[in-house]
Amino acid sequence: MKKVGFIGLGTMGRPMALNLLAKGYEVIVYNRTANKAAELEGHGARIAETPAETACAVDVLITMLSDDTALESVFYGENGIMQGVRTGLTIIDSSTVAPQTSRRIYADLQAKGVQFLDSPVTGSKPAAESATLTFMVGGERAAFDAVYDVFADLGKTILYMGPSGAGSNAKLAHNTMVGINLIGLAEGLSIATKAGLDPEQFLQIVNAGSANSRQAELKGAKIVNRDFSNQFSLKLMLKDLLLASELTGQFQLPTPLLHAATSVFQMGLSKGLGEDDLCSAVKCYEDWMGQEIEKKHS
Ligand code: NAP
Repeated sequence: MKKVGFIGLGTMGRPMALNLLAKGYEVIVYNRTANKAAELEGHGARIAETPAETACAVDVLITMLSDDTALESVFYGENGIMQGVRTGLTIIDSSTVAPQTSRRIYADLQAKGVQFLDSPVTGSKPAAESATLTFMVGGERAAFDAVYDVFADLGKTILYMGPSGAGSNAKLAHNTMVGINLIGLAEGLSIATKAGLDPEQFLQIVNAGSANSRQAELKGAKIVNRDFSNQFSLKLMLKDLLLASELTGQFQLPTPLLHAATSVFQMGLSKGLGEDDLCSAVKCYEDWMGQEIEKKHS
């Protein structure tokens, strides 16, 4: 069985690493904040002191980091991955980052005989926990095929999208829709609440009708129950929309809905909601209408 390294044990990385351990892999973990890695020692993981140490000890290395800055620091910083790689290693990066960052790391690793697959995921914390993530993968087809077993132990839908950067491109297009759908849900719930309707009953209509979406299913109940605990943070949603704007800027493609949704998440960040779940963006609408969206009967 392959020896797997895991770097980045946050909301998504921790349950993914736990799934690998549960499936019998030998797993070596590193996290910047050391106590998150130490916790996995109790589940059978070996702890590495640096990203370089993690990279040189494994066959497959998975990274699951916040953003481009985090990725660049973990790859190129002192004792970073680049200092520990050896020919034959395959790196699966599941962070959501700019496609040009994915392509740059791919090219730098090609020169060292290392395969790099940009492999962002969709499905939030619950899908990470239940190993039902969707992976969209860019890079060499043969490298993808060689580590398919690892993907299959973490996800349910695993798609090869094309050359390096294709996975990151797919993820930004996808998350543009996630952000727009969430704001659509918040706006509909606000109209219903302001009009005096029971938002929970309104959600029943949404879920049964043609306005339904995955965001309505995942976040509708959280909003009416006032549960803004983080599954996918508002600040990371905003990060993805800003990356999508960069991408569409390169095409000169007008994306009015992307920009409208981005503005609301930016207002949410200014309100101090960055660490809360993305569905807390609804609080912007609550400010505007002077009323909270809450189910009428408990
Ligand atoms: P998270 O909980 O914030 O975890 C981020 C991880 O990155 C942590 O392990 C953090 O380490 C590490 N990190 C951040 N900056 C770093 C740096 N400069 N150097 C080293 N390590 C650094 O984020 P998440 O929700 O797991 O998301 C991870 C990635 O997956 C993001 O790109 C996100 O957009 C994407 N994603 C998330 C979801 C979701 O539902 N949550 C779904 C799909 C995709 P510390 O513990 O030290 O802070």
